[in-house]
Amino acid sequence: MAASKYQAPRGTFDILPDAARIRARIERTAAEIFVRAGYEPVSTPAFEDTELFERGVGRSTDIVRKEMFTFEDKGGRSITLRPEGTAPICRAYLEHGMHKLAQPVKLFYAGPFFRHERPQAGRYRQFHQLGLEAIGTDSPLADAEAIMLLAELLAELGVPGVQLRLGSLGSPDARRDYLEELKAHLRAHEAELSKDVRERIELNPLRAFDSSDEGTRGVMENAPTIVERLNEEDAAHFAEVCSLLDASGIDYEIDPTLVRGLDYYTRTIFSFVCSELGAQSEVGGGGRYDGLIEQLGGPPTPAIGWAAGVERIMLALGEKAEATDRDAFVAVADDGQRQRALALTGELRHAGLAVEVDLAGRSLKGQLKHADRIRARRAVILEADGTMQLRDMQTGDQHPVEPGAVADELSK
Ligand code: ATP
Ligand code: MG
Repeated sequence: MAASKYQAPRGTFDILPDAARIRARIERTAAEIFVRAGYEPVSTPAFEDTELFERGVGRSTDIVRKEMFTFEDKGGRSITLRPEGTAPICRAYLEHGMHKLAQPVKLFYAGPFFRHERPQAGRYRQFHQLGLEAIGTDSPLADAEAIMLLAELLAELGVPGVQLRLGSLGSPDARRDYLEELKAHLRAHEAELSKDVRERIELNPLRAFDSSDEGTRGVMENAPTIVERLNEEDAAHFAEVCSLLDASGIDYEIDPTLVRGLDYYTRTIFSFVCSELGAQSEVGGGGRYDGLIEQLGGPPTPAIGWAAGVERIMLALGEKAEATDRDAFVAVADDGQRQRALALTGELRHAGLAVEVDLAGRSLKGQLKHADRIRARRAVILEADGTMQLRDMQTGDQHPVEPGAVADELSK
């Protein structure tokens, strides 16, 4: 093998054609579903000012504490490769005055994201997310619609073993009393907690629910949950989201211990997990972030969104390689016909057919073998005397065809 000493950096990977085809299908399917629902595409830069994520994602989160790729640019500004998509979209919403548009503004995106994580199956340092945001409404209808769209995407793609978990974090004011209660519970059991959780009792007590540490899990089994402590308005909002999902036939399980890795969430949160995935079982998730835009310096603007991991979806699908067929391969029986062959190939492609032509100077036998290899359904053979043959690559049957009739014949 012609190996070089260079390899893709740790935690990153090359996307070779078989995987790239599946990825393209996932992104195409998502875009079709989102566009039908009136969401519009948006794309933000791969890097942003570091402060956007510190303020937006939250300084107490794993992402900001240890997962960001941060560096100084030549002007001494601190820059971070984007670890997530919501804060950048909110930045763009404010920067471009989208609050003046009809609300909610419904946007979707897909692209690479970067987190300095320990690489393992389903967890990489450059990975891909697709997601959507509905900004400018606090209606439970928007929560239910966002959830329905992710459910539809996973169903349409055929992701097996999908389960939806649903919870609510309440609104920040109402959450304050609950957080004090939770901190008191954690402090009372400090000795049983993992170091990481113990150190963050003040900063981020909710993360204790997400811990995989056995001692911590034991403590959390008896911890009060936020869902039991919602105030009247938050409880009514949550009940309405549930009843809208019921009415639309979306299955879910209420998980009072559900939390998420970003600070900005309020009220509804959700997570789609897949039984086919191991430890990294979440294919996508999100929730409401009613305080984020204000946190970034904008007017109070409620919003909801989610992101799904494209590599996780691919793992769940089992990465079945999808072969592509060609309508035809244009072959020459004589080198004198190569110019005509390329011109004809161009015409056939223009007519909408998937057609390849020999680019390697092969003999006729070699060309037909290659036509087989690329799964061409038919071969058009240009003879030395200028006539053409149409060959069925499955049966080997061959018959003459008029140059003007090739496109029509191939379309049959
Ligand atoms: P996890 O609990 O698996 O770390 P997370 O809470 O960090 O996920 P989000 O920040 O909400 O996840 O990201 C949304 C989705 O992006 C996840 O559901 C997952 O599918 C995917 N994802 C997150 N981090 C990675 C990663 N390092 N590599 C691949 N996919 C990822
Ligand atoms: Mg994470």
